This record gives sequence, C-alpha cells and structure tokens, in this order.
Amino acid sequence: MADENRIELTVVIPVYNEESNLEPLYQELGSVLSATSLSYEILAVDDGSSDNSFKKLTEIQQNDPHVRIIRFRRNFGQTAAFSAGFKYARGRIIVPIDADGQNDPADIPRLLAKLNEGYDIVSGWRKERKDNAVTRTLPSRIANWLIGRITGVRLHDYGCTLKAYRAESLKPIRLYGEMHRFIPALARWGGENVAEIVVNHRPRIRGKTKYGLNRIFKVLLDLITIKFLASFSTKPIYIFGGMGGLCMLGSLISGGITIYMKIAQDYSMNRNPLLIVSTMLMTTAVQFVLMGLLAEILVRTYHESQDRPTYVIEKIQEPNPAAGSQES
Ligand code: UDP
Ligand code: MG
Repeated sequence: MADENRIELTVVIPVYNEESNLEPLYQELGSVLSATSLSYEILAVDDGSSDNSFKKLTEIQQNDPHVRIIRFRRNFGQTAAFSAGFKYARGRIIVPIDADGQNDPADIPRLLAKLNEGYDIVSGWRKERKDNAVTRTLPSRIANWLIGRITGVRLHDYGCTLKAYRAESLKPIRLYGEMHRFIPALARWGGENVAEIVVNHRPRIRGKTKYGLNRIFKVLLDLITIKFLASFSTKPIYIFGGMGGLCMLGSLISGGITIYMKIAQDYSMNRNPLLIVSTMLMTTAVQFVLMGLLAEILVRTYHESQDRPTYVIEKIQEPNPAAGSQES
C-alpha cells in the first residue's frame, strides 16, 4: 500500500448478523474517534451476515466517508474477518472491536496512549466480564492460564477483541482457525513489546452470541498448533526424530527382553507379546523418521515459497562510509 494513502487509525469491526447493534456502536465510535483528532477509518467486515447488517452498514457509509466495508461471500468466521480487515486496513494503528457493543469505544484513546508509551501491542483485559460465568468466563480463565503457560506470554485476557496494534507488527502475521486471539503471543515471539490494560466490558443487549462451547476445543487445538509451529516449524525432524528415537528405544528394550526370555527361560519368542510390541514400535519409529523428513521438505517449501525468513531482523547497521577515513 502506497504510503501517502496511510492514515493514523483503522478500527476493524467483524460483523456477523448484528443489524441492531451497528447504529449504536457507530454513534459511540464516531464521537470517540472525532474527539481524538486522529485521521481514522472504520473498516467493517461483514462476515456473510444473513440479516440486514450489510444494508445497515451501507446506510451508515452513505453519510460518512470514514466507513469502508468488506463483504464476504459467506460466513468465514471471526478470525477470517479479522484477517481481511487487517490486510486492507490503511491505518498505522489498528484497533479491532466487537460489533455487539460489548467492548466500549471509550477505551480506545487509553489503548492508544499506552501504545504511545512504546509498545507494539496493547491488549484489553475485561477484568469485570459481563458474560455467562459457566460457558464464557470460567472456560476463558482456564484458557488464558493455559495459553500463558504454554506460550510463555502471560496475559489475563487473550480472548478480548479490543486491542491496539501497530500495523507493522500485525500485517506479517497470518491467521488460521481461531487464532486471532494468539496474536499477542505470536507477536511477542517475533520480538514485539506487548502490554495489557483493563478495559470496560458490557453485557450484550441486542442480538445473540455466535459461539457455543465447541470454541474451547478449537482454541485448544490451535494452541497445540502454534506451540508446535513456534518450537519446531524450522526443524520438524527434531520432534519427529525424537519421537522416532523413543519408539526405537522401546522397540530395542522390548526385543531385548524377548531374546533374554528365550535364552534364560526358554520362553517361546513367537508366543511372547513383547515381540509384537517390539515390531510395532520399530515400524512406528521408521514412520516417525520418514514423517520428519517429509516435514523437513514441507518446511523448506513453506519458508522459501513465501520468502519467509526464519528470523526477525530489527535493523541492519551498515558502517558509516566516512568512518575509515577518520583514522590517523
Ligand atoms: N463474528 C463474526 N463472524 C462469526 C462469529 C462472530 O464476525 O462467525 C463477530 C460478531 O459479529 C461479533 C464478534 O465477532 O462482532 C464477537 O462475537 P460474539 O459476540 O458472538 O462472541 P462473544 O462475545 O460471545 O465471545
Ligand atoms: Mg460478544
């Protein structure tokens, strides 16, 4: 994107069947954003709504040139909506916010102020969450603890949509599944500074929540994926080879015992279940190593096809050409 097109702030709103929430949210956002005197845009991503959300957005847009709309062909999910929103955002700073009014736009200036203290990402913490305790607040507490443990990036509230990102920290991150919540962890691994501030949270008064409990499983599986990718995506043979090695060790022990039992106790080898265990483990070991080698090929294709380096450079400092001539 050409630099002259850039503005200071993009607010990204994922919208899925939120017709009754759009106008009130837009009013609130409008008054907060115009008070900041930043150049801004509101980028609504209509995630294939089947109600009048798109019509509502179009009406809002007709009276306000700050509003841009992306409409998906069908419902691709909130993470996909964020992905598109982040890609087409023109702002130097990007702030996602839920369309249902649960996040409070009045928190945006505070997020920006914190960002200006020198952070790359400021994450909202819904300290007093106004959601169902059993299906939302409790699972989310457990999830946040687990994500913190596994990723090593401890935040109180990964799931909070309201965050502020510097565009350059966000744009390189590719999102799949339910992964938008892991952005702070992914970014932190890339060396970005992440902060957290308490934000307001309000009950949903209109429309229905789009999620059930099955989101928990998706988040857990995504967590395994990102951990795996982070630890081994450049050297998968280490993990597959490691598992293969363990299986091979098990196989040798089991086979050794079978032979020992034959020699010492004259116990028939082909009636000994340990022989089967040994053969199975050996086959598995070979499979693991082969899978590791395949993964190595995949990883090379992945990094090289996208020209994705396996590191993140902050800057390259070249010598000053005048430096040598100053020596006596
Ligand atoms: N959303 C979306 N696509 C979906 C599901 C949800 O864009 O497939 C949007 C939804 O319109 C809302 C936000 O994501 O703006 C959060 O959804 P919701 O309020 O249902 O989730 P909860 O707050 O209950 O976690
Ligand atoms: Mg909500």
